[in-house]
Amino acid sequence: MTSPDASTVTWRPLADAHGRVARDLRVSLTDRCNLRCSYCMPAEGMAWIPGRDLLTDEEMIRLIRIGVERLGITEVRFTGGEPLLRPGLPEIIAAVAGMRTVAGERPGIAATTNAILLPRLAGRLAAAGLDRVNVSLDTVDRERYARLTRRDRLPQVLAGLAAAEEAGLAPIKINAVLLPGLNEADAPELLRFCLDRGYLLRFIEEMPLGPRGAWDRSRMVTAADILAMLRRDFELRPAPAPRGSAPADRWLVAAGVDRAGRAHPAGEVGVIASVSAPFCGACDRTRLTADGAVRNCLFARGERPLRGLLRGGATDEELIDAWVGEMATKAPGHGIDDPSFLRPDRGMSAIGG
Ligand code: SAM
Ligand code: SF4
Repeated sequence: MTSPDASTVTWRPLADAHGRVARDLRVSLTDRCNLRCSYCMPAEGMAWIPGRDLLTDEEMIRLIRIGVERLGITEVRFTGGEPLLRPGLPEIIAAVAGMRTVAGERPGIAATTNAILLPRLAGRLAAAGLDRVNVSLDTVDRERYARLTRRDRLPQVLAGLAAAEEAGLAPIKINAVLLPGLNEADAPELLRFCLDRGYLLRFIEEMPLGPRGAWDRSRMVTAADILAMLRRDFELRPAPAPRGSAPADRWLVAAGVDRAGRAHPAGEVGVIASVSAPFCGACDRTRLTADGAVRNCLFARGERPLRGLLRGGATDEELIDAWVGEMATKAPGHGIDDPSFLRPDRGMSAIGG
């Protein structure tokens, strides 16, 4: 199928009642994973989405095409579970690279990954059209990495980062979640590791989307805790550019020497205060799950299944109506810090982080 001429296409914005318009599509390609990060999944006993309920590559591509060509999506990010486990990922990326946004441009294409399969796949994915990766890495201490992810895979992750660099998947962003009493104290070492390599590190506050009972607001490592810890070793200044819809508060790190006398280059670090200072007012995301549901928020209690429509022969217009309708009901905020907060029925690995 060829992309239509941008000048002749009618499109509808994914707008909600609070003045926000979604342009960033997060696509979960699978709920499976080759790690078991303790803030995301239980050690065992996950109820996986049955294979027949997963969208096929063709179904996935059709929905992404509708998002890009008819609904104003400009950025597509693949996530999961672990998106690199999806066998058809290179073909899906190549299809998205051939799409054109309503402004006639190629959409940005990114993936969030644990990097374990990047040594094998980085070159192929970049050749297919992948622009960038965010790599999840919570510590560079091998023993604590193995405890946190329940798998001894740090060497593969480091090889994956090298492969991403080699393939030109730049800039490399690193996502880190700090858990109290586990990898909390590793934050300065992780920042030094990233500064040395030019990676953009962003710490993310732990959200209540992992195994039930694992999240404790009173013990959560907050953005304020993280900044206070980093300031003992690094000189930080707020980055000048406005935050816009990007969730990270960015800080410039001055070149210097830490308390142990080790030199580091200048760079930057982000802190995403998803719980203590949510950025819902600037959110521009819409989500598609691996089994074909549209979600208007990570924390939404409801979602709109499109798989039945797709498999029942729905037209593009019917799918557009359903997607637009779901986004229109987006709540003003997730309310995690509100006593009445109820977590969604799906966890992070099934929604797509
Ligand atoms: N497997 C890929 C990865 O880890 O990068 C992609 C999916 S993962 C669910 C996406 C992101 O969600 C990761 O950066 C991970 O650290 C983050 N994440 C998972 N559970 C979280 C939680 N409870 N709170 C905050 N971030 C979480
Ligand atoms: Fe897997 Fe990513 Fe969840 Fe870790 S955070 S268990 S790598 S989906």
